Amino acid sequence: MKLVVKFGGSSLASAEQFQKVAEIIHADPNRRYVVPSAPGKRFDGDTKVTDMLYACYDKAEAGEDFTENLAAIRARYDEIIEGLGLDLSLEEEFAKIKDQFVLRAGRQYAASRGEYLNGMVLAAYLGFEFVDAATVIRFGEDGICNFEKTDVILSKRLRDVEYAVIPGFYGATDNGVVTTFSRGGSDITGSIVARAVRADMYENWTDVSGFMIADPHVIKDTEIIETLTYKELRELAYMGASVLHEDAIFPVRSEGIPINIRNTNCPEDKGTLIVESTCRKPKYIITGIAGKKGFASINIEKDMMNEEIGFCRKVLQVFEENNLSFEHMPSGIDTMTVFLHQSEFQDCEQRVISGIHRAVHPDLVELESGLALLAIVGRGMRDTRGVAGKVFTALAKKNINIKMIDQGSSELNIIIGVKEKYFEDAIRALYETFVTEA
Ligand code: ASP
Repeated sequence: MKLVVKFGGSSLASAEQFQKVAEIIHADPNRRYVVPSAPGKRFDGDTKVTDMLYACYDKAEAGEDFTENLAAIRARYDEIIEGLGLDLSLEEEFAKIKDQFVLRAGRQYAASRGEYLNGMVLAAYLGFEFVDAATVIRFGEDGICNFEKTDVILSKRLRDVEYAVIPGFYGATDNGVVTTFSRGGSDITGSIVARAVRADMYENWTDVSGFMIADPHVIKDTEIIETLTYKELRELAYMGASVLHEDAIFPVRSEGIPINIRNTNCPEDKGTLIVESTCRKPKYIITGIAGKKGFASINIEKDMMNEEIGFCRKVLQVFEENNLSFEHMPSGIDTMTVFLHQSEFQDCEQRVISGIHRAVHPDLVELESGLALLAIVGRGMRDTRGVAGKVFTALAKKNINIKMIDQGSSELNIIIGVKEKYFEDAIRALYETFVTEA
């Protein structure tokens, strides 16, 4: 049995947190490969080391004095090292980092040092081998991780290593240029390592006990989802449920390795298990509700639209030409509506409108802003009649007007568009119907 364990920034923010992490790792000898993030926030209002590094490098790049910034970062690590009673000095490492900053080694190099140093400290504390991610995680010159190449290099490197710490978030190109994933990317590293060692499980330890059925800021006593499929996770994560980096599922998914989200501060909680597929019946018809504000819609009307071949293509081409990706496109006989992120659309809205006029000569183009989209997700919806009916009733009871409803053919999700001001009430109404009163 082989487990890969990834610990997030808040799990490794202080010596006390390091002790909890070590206890978890030592509790099971199968926890052999450890992927740490950089130290995160110790308390509300604290700054993550990654953000301190970005700020420090920005000063270096602007030619300003960054001595104090770097000293503050070093103090974060020294506090941990002292708290753990380790005989370890990062003197040389910080001297190297300083030189590299002066040489303008790049923002990605700068940010990567958070994980690099934390990995060194953790490896020393656990007595595990330290494997620098720059030597095993390969990025292309385009800044995109080459999963296949990485898998070959990493699996070979770890073949004879029994216990190792591999820092998250970064790797390097063939030429040794240190490159990072997007923020929160240590989750991806954990997944890559799990694939490389053909792990039985990828445990992702964080500061919550798993995915919640709904946003706990809206629903106070919401429950943890026990089991989630990769597909359900994609839908929920895309719509804003943010426990795991969106891209973290791909490497493990291709190997059928499950992910277990666990809470470092409550290790006895079972957390959420994410699997390819499962016979386990979900507790409720729906698995989760997620949503986001900040959408706009463009409604296009034209008599006899249905007869005009290529109408949709011509409209969508306008979006493509303006480099806009759209979210949903419900349509009627003589109408089509395109939903997209308001922030992306705002700057080019007039170009898009005139483009649509030129492309298809519509009778009417109408914009609506301040919309929210909600996704009701669940593998249990497939064979259940009346789910959409329940959605309509739940929202009607609360006087919430539905602007759009869209069910994917997978029957895995129903997307609903409402005015932003109804967003929270809509979540509450749906939660009541599908969870509280179920
Ligand atoms: N430390 C990085 C961040 O703050 C990566 C990570 O934590 O996964 O985004």
